[in-house]
Amino acid sequence: MATVASPSSKVARPQIRQTQCFIGGKWVPAASGKTFDTIHPATEEVIAQVAEGDKEDIDAAVDAARAQFDGGEWSRMDARERGRLMYKLADLIEAEADELAAIETLDNGKPIKDAKAADIPLVIQCLRYYAGWADKIQGATIPVDGEVFCYTRREPVGVVGQIIPWNFPALMVAWKWGPALAAGCTIVMKPAEQTPLSCLRMARLAQKAGIPDGVINVVPGYGPTAGAALVEHPGVDKIAFTGEGATAKIIQRAAADTVKRLTFELGGKSPNIIFDDADMELAIDGSHSGLFFNQGQCCCAGSRLYVQSKAYDSVVERLVKLSEDRKVGDPFDPDTEQGPQVDQAQFDKILKYVDFGKADGANLATGGARCGSQGYFVEPTVFTDVQDDMRIAREEIFGPVLSVLKFDDVDEIAKRANDTDFGLAAAVWTRDISKAHRLAAKLRAGTVWVNCYNQFDSAAPFGGFKASGIGRELGEEGLAAYTENKTVTVKLG
Ligand code: ADP
Repeated sequence: MATVASPSSKVARPQIRQTQCFIGGKWVPAASGKTFDTIHPATEEVIAQVAEGDKEDIDAAVDAARAQFDGGEWSRMDARERGRLMYKLADLIEAEADELAAIETLDNGKPIKDAKAADIPLVIQCLRYYAGWADKIQGATIPVDGEVFCYTRREPVGVVGQIIPWNFPALMVAWKWGPALAAGCTIVMKPAEQTPLSCLRMARLAQKAGIPDGVINVVPGYGPTAGAALVEHPGVDKIAFTGEGATAKIIQRAAADTVKRLTFELGGKSPNIIFDDADMELAIDGSHSGLFFNQGQCCCAGSRLYVQSKAYDSVVERLVKLSEDRKVGDPFDPDTEQGPQVDQAQFDKILKYVDFGKADGANLATGGARCGSQGYFVEPTVFTDVQDDMRIAREEIFGPVLSVLKFDDVDEIAKRANDTDFGLAAAVWTRDISKAHRLAAKLRAGTVWVNCYNQFDSAAPFGGFKASGIGRELGEEGLAAYTENKTVTVKLG
């Protein structure tokens, strides 16, 4: 049974000030007048009523973004000035970092410790990283045949629709806004219905930073209504989406009619491989947090843990102990390591997968049940003796459920690790540097971590092979996805 954190010295609840749509620099209710509740997942209490945007609001937001892109100053201003405004936004977020972290904890349920140490610092880093790119987006001169001067220009792709999930609400805003703003695009964002609050606060700060009206527009609402209207809108040039594969397929079909550019960051079932010769302290701690961080609600969670046979029993024993010691409880308690899942649907899905694991014959080594009687808390759960064909080894659970599998042979492991529809991330723990590099080359995943997990940096591209996505976010490649490459050819003489 996981330890329940004591409710001592709790962090204060934040003030919620922004709950309306942000369109063309104005805070407006949804055209329908409708609102939806956003709740605190630890207590299930309603935090705020948020404007429920739909097609009419999306139309207004796209009009504002289109007018700003086609006739406004954003894409025409000196690139360095665009960068300066982005740095200003990052500074304002830094000044309000504690408040924003508390909003994340309230809306998403993540431990305040994580929101402060990971989410918000990464938001600031990402915006500063891309602010630095604003005046460094360059074309090339091309040596074509003849008396011809040929060059390329990297131009903003236009109005971008950005649809994000609830697991890292503020960080997903930064990953999406950063490259779009640097490139000179204008934005209509639909945050996840579970967690709209930090996005709305960041829109307020963007306005305060002096980012012109119409550059950033935010329409909270549901996927099949507001989200679908954004995807179908002919005035939107690109959709950047992070979420589930099933939603991505709907979006891809709906976007086909208007031939929109698409980037997708989707799910995973990431293999995490511990060899006998690993630094075990490092490997076990890293593998524990590689799955349980953020309540297991990470698209890159190391949810298939392969342990080489000689080390298997001792690794399992220590992983179970770490899970049992994990402090689960009030996310506003600074000692809490694991908060609730984001909502009832996720909670139910996770417990359903626990049943699948048991029914398929995996060994439930610890956890597997609800934690407490209020909120969406799930015990840190470890299944051992998991087989490759079990559902808990193949499907994304998106919760605090670790599947541990055994392997013997270094030659078999790449094949087993790659035997999945996904390809987002993978990790290898070994002291043998040649083995690590050889395996890193073989693994079909967009990110391979060696002797670490969840090592993120805004400069390093992130995204998926296979069903885990299309394109990359972060780094130079993430920026390129917000540009069109124009070739200019000039006949000389
Ligand atoms: P998750 O399981 O993480 O909630 P989803 O793919 O359902 O994954 O949600 C991610 C984002 O996609 C959310 O903002 C959601 O509202 C949005 N969304 C869901 N369905 C659609 C849809 N049909 N069209 C556009 N956006 C959608």
